[in-house]
Amino acid sequence: MSEIKIDKLVRSKRRTIAIIVTRDAQLIVRAPFGIKDKIIDDFINRKSKWINKKLEKAKIKCLNFNPKQFVNGESFLYLGKSYPFKIVESNRIVLTDSLEFPGKFLTHAGIYLKEWYKLQLLKTITERVCMYSEMTGLIHRSIKITSAKKRFGSCSPNGSLNFSWRLMMAPLNIIDYVVVHELVHIEERNHSKNFWNKVRIILPDYKQSEKWLKDNSQLLTIE
Ligand SMILES: [Zn+2]
Repeated sequence: MSEIKIDKLVRSKRRTIAIIVTRDAQLIVRAPFGIKDKIIDDFINRKSKWINKKLEKAKIKCLNFNPKQFVNGESFLYLGKSYPFKIVESNRIVLTDSLEFPGKFLTHAGIYLKEWYKLQLLKTITERVCMYSEMTGLIHRSIKITSAKKRFGSCSPNGSLNFSWRLMMAPLNIIDYVVVHELVHIEERNHSKNFWNKVRIILPDYKQSEKWLKDNSQLLTIE
């Protein structure tokens, strides 16, 4: 049995198996008439990594992000995963398998949630900066969380690092990339060859992260 759920299997006169991930995150497999299920499953399993990546991407893209209504079941991103919004009777925002939000704060939901994301990012980013700082010997002066919409990170001339709270919605490897990028700026101010070489030594697949940010930055918002 394949561990990946096929939404639609279409058999036809074709000669090869084809995998299609649709925009609404459905997996469609096209296969020749006579081919055994086992062969299709093996094929799917061999490609599982690629399929899962495509499905995850499609899922995130097809969610309706803008603008947020703060209603039960609405999706919110946290560390690259989407969580359903759940209105509860409590005093604070808690992330379980849903994003539990106190009903009494609903009138200013956006403001409360933004503050919560800021706090979570400060914790996460402090940890990651320390980790990469130890690894590289690059010392920063301070960390500030901003509300920048497009600039996810920046490094001021005195070595202060700034990160947008929106990064909290991105996967951890993306946060790490922004952290490393800004840390390396402490030593290399410009995007020179030297700069990218240093980034590459720490994160060999940094280009993928950069591409992810380019492709998905518009999703990192609640406005
Ligand atoms: Zn830069």
